[in-house]
Amino acid sequence: MADKYQQFTTTPLGKLVTSKLGLPKPPVLRRYRPGQPPLDGPALLGAAPDSRLEKTLTGQLGRAGIEIVREPGEGVRYGALVFDATGITDPTHLRELYSFFHPVIRDIGPSGRVVVLGTPPELVDGRERIAQRALEGFTRTVGKELKRGATAQLVYVAEGAEEASESTMRFLLSAKSAFVAGQVIRIGTAGTKTAQAPADWATPLAGKTALVTGASRGIGAAIAEVLARDGAHVVALDIPAQGGDLSAVANRVGGTALQLDITADDAPRKLADHLTQRHGGVDVVVHNAGITRDKTLGKMSAAAWDSVLTVNLAAQLAVNDTLLGEGVLHGNGRIVGVSSIAGIAGNVGQANYAASKAGVIGMVDDAAEKLAERGCTINAVAPGFIETQMTAQVPLMIREFGRRLSSLAQGGLPVDVAETIAWYANPASSAVNGNVVRVCGQGFLGA
Ligand code: NAD
Repeated sequence: MADKYQQFTTTPLGKLVTSKLGLPKPPVLRRYRPGQPPLDGPALLGAAPDSRLEKTLTGQLGRAGIEIVREPGEGVRYGALVFDATGITDPTHLRELYSFFHPVIRDIGPSGRVVVLGTPPELVDGRERIAQRALEGFTRTVGKELKRGATAQLVYVAEGAEEASESTMRFLLSAKSAFVAGQVIRIGTAGTKTAQAPADWATPLAGKTALVTGASRGIGAAIAEVLARDGAHVVALDIPAQGGDLSAVANRVGGTALQLDITADDAPRKLADHLTQRHGGVDVVVHNAGITRDKTLGKMSAAAWDSVLTVNLAAQLAVNDTLLGEGVLHGNGRIVGVSSIAGIAGNVGQANYAASKAGVIGMVDDAAEKLAERGCTINAVAPGFIETQMTAQVPLMIREFGRRLSSLAQGGLPVDVAETIAWYANPASSAVNGNVVRVCGQGFLGA
C-alpha cells in the first residue's frame, strides 16, 4: 500500500534518476500535528480596491495565530498568499490578480497556501458576474503551477456571510487541508446566524455526537479518529463481519461500536433508536460506508449493480429520511456524504459506482436548502486517489496513474479526507452548505 515510488525519490539514487529522466517528484506534504503553527511563514494579505473582506480576514488570521504582512519583503518565504478579490466587479479589474500575485508567487514556501476570495458569481449580475467567474480559471491554474506541496483554493463568500468564513479560512490556512487542492468553496448567508465559534478551536466538537458508517478501517477509521480528536463522541458503525476491527477503532477513540448492515430493512429504525436512547440524538452523520463491484457495463451482473447502488446511495437516503423525519439530528447538525471523483468524471468499469457517487452529489443538491431551514447543513467530499485497502486492489499501472496524475503527484491519506469532513462538522461551519469538495491533490481526472 505504501507509496514506494515516493520513498524512492527521496533517496540519493532516486533523486538522480528522477531529475535525469524528468519524472515526477512527489513532495512530502506538511500534515497537521496538534500545537504546530498553522503556517510555516507569514501570510501576505492583499485586496483589490473596494473589497469587503479585508477587515474580517485580518481578525480571523490574527486569532488563528498567523502573522500577517501587507507588503512584499526581500527574501521572505510566505506561508500563504491571501487575496480578497471581492472588489473585482469588472473584467478590466482582473489585472489586480496579476499585480498582486506575479511578484510573489515564486516566494511561497513548501506546502504553502494561496487563497483567493470572491463573491459567488450566481449572486451578482453583468460584468461583475463575469469577472468573479474568471477567478476560477485563475485559481485552478495557480494550483497547477505551484510546486513543493503548495495549493490554491477559491472561496466565494456571499455578501453578509463574511464573519461565517472563519472555520473555512482556518482549515485552508493549515496543514489540515494538505490534499485539498484547486477547489472552489461557497459560503452562503443561510446558516450565518446558527454558526457558533467553538470555545476551543482545538476541540470544536466537544459535547457532540458523531455517527461514522464504515468506520472499521480505511477512510472511515480515520474519520472516527479525527472527529474524536476534535472532541466528539463517535458512534462507529460497520457490518458484523468487521466487528473485531470495529471494536478496536471504537476503543481507540473512546467511542461506541455499533454492528449494523446499513442496507438491512430495519437499519434506519435500529440506528435512530440507538442514537436516541444511548446518546439523546446525533449532531454529525457521516455516510462513509461504500463498496465497489467493478466490471464494464456489458459484463456487469444485476447483483453487482444493485449492491453498489443500495450501499452507496439508497441506504443513506433511507437513514436520512428517518433521522430527519424523527428529529434525531440536532439543530446545527451536519450530514456529510462521501462521493468520489468517479462520480464527477466517470470511470471505466464503474458505471454502478459512479452512478451511486454522482447520486450522493444529487443528495447534497437536493437537501441543502431543506436542511438550512432547520439550521443544519449537508455537504460532501469527493476523494480522488486515497491510499486504502480499496485502492491497494487496483492494478499497479492504473494505481500509478491514479497517484501521479495530479498537481501533488501522489495519493492522499485517509486523514486528508477526515480533516475535510471535520471542517464541515465544525459548529462554526453552518454557512458552508451544499458544497462538494474534492480531496484529490487536484487530480487531473475530471478536473
Ligand atoms: P474500505 O472498503 O476500506 O471501507 C469501507 C467500509 O464500509 C468497510 O469497513 C465496510 O465493511 C463498510 N461497509 C460496506 N458495506 C457496508 C454496509 N452495508 N453497512 C455498513 N458498513 C458497510 O473503503 P475506503 O477506501 O475506506 O472508502 C471509504 C469511502 O470512501 C467509500 O464510500 C468509498 O467509496 C469512498 N472513496 C474512497 C476512495 C479511495 O481512494 N479509497 C476514493 C473515492 C471515494
